[in-house]
Amino acid sequence: MQSKIRAAVLRQLGRPVTVEQLTVADPAAGEVRVRMTAAGLCHSDLYVRDGAWARPTPVVMGHEGAGVVESVGDGVDPALVGGQVVLSWQVPCGTCRACAEARPWACQQSPSFSYLRRDGSAAYTDARGQPIHSYSALATMSEATIVAEAAAVPIPDDVDPGVAALIGCCVSTGVGAVRKTAQVAAGSSVVIIGLGGVGLSCVMGAALAQAGRIVVVDRQSQKLDLALELGATHAVPAGADVDATLRALLAELPTAGADYAFEAAGRAETATLAAEALAPDGLAVMVGMPPMGARASFDVYRLVDGNRRIVGSNYGHTDPAVDFPAYAELHRAGRLPVERLIDRRLDLAEIEDAFDRLRAGTALRQVVVMPGD
Ligand SMILES: [Zn+2]
Ligand SMILES: [Zn+2]
Repeated sequence: MQSKIRAAVLRQLGRPVTVEQLTVADPAAGEVRVRMTAAGLCHSDLYVRDGAWARPTPVVMGHEGAGVVESVGDGVDPALVGGQVVLSWQVPCGTCRACAEARPWACQQSPSFSYLRRDGSAAYTDARGQPIHSYSALATMSEATIVAEAAAVPIPDDVDPGVAALIGCCVSTGVGAVRKTAQVAAGSSVVIIGLGGVGLSCVMGAALAQAGRIVVVDRQSQKLDLALELGATHAVPAGADVDATLRALLAELPTAGADYAFEAAGRAETATLAAEALAPDGLAVMVGMPPMGARASFDVYRLVDGNRRIVGSNYGHTDPAVDFPAYAELHRAGRLPVERLIDRRLDLAEIEDAFDRLRAGTALRQVVVMPGD
């Protein structure tokens, strides 16, 4: 077990991410050390990289990842060592009111907020001995990390590491928004706007929920094609006439609108589009993360008049200990084809190129693969 590891470090918001050699600590009580095998690149990482979200720096990047437990601290079951885990950036404290009420997604005492370990120290130090934060107390874009025991959720070893990584963020966010936030009913009509990892996961979730009409909207034709293969029924290219095209498509429905609309692009304009696509009694779910401070508008009269609802969904109301193994099992059963979302596997050294592709909107899910032992 090496204490010197490579990691993707953001020194300053808006500046390039560089690969550095760092020293990683040993796990303290209640912690596990994980040798990372795969880390997905999420749009949230780009917001941080480009300075659209304020976060503590310097920081080891990444909040979507999977690995193998290398060692455990006091009080942690040693049987975890050697097993595959998916990392969760929401770590329920287990004792606050939200946790006691079985709403772990609402826990406000998660160590993920501090970007540090429970004792307030950093998991990493650089060559000069300076402490380095861990993004969301996870730091998945590293060869090894230290996380709270509850942040490392065991799943079967035969699940592909790239797939396992995606279960840790985009799959749980998108499938969870459909399954848990909206509880989409069989036969209902669904609109999904924006087909990144989260939007495509919404498509898989809607197919799993046996939604009737699944309409997808995106700028990229290859993303629309993939969504159709994953279970979407109608594809609408985003462009100048997207409103009219979508309205015409929804007018064919008996309800003249969608029962559910998911905004997965993280844009104010498409938040409005989602709200306006709803049938009476419909539910719009804001699941895409926008830049901080983004504001959207909607027709208040129409919302009230038609009993329409708009809600936010962060991490798909995920309970990691319950939902990660469930998504892994659905994947193994062939009902959640997460591998279709991965269009590139890269080395840590190619991280800036991967951010460029993410910025251009051409990438599906890019996964950093760590060298094996
Ligand atoms: Zn994410
Ligand atoms: Zn809690």
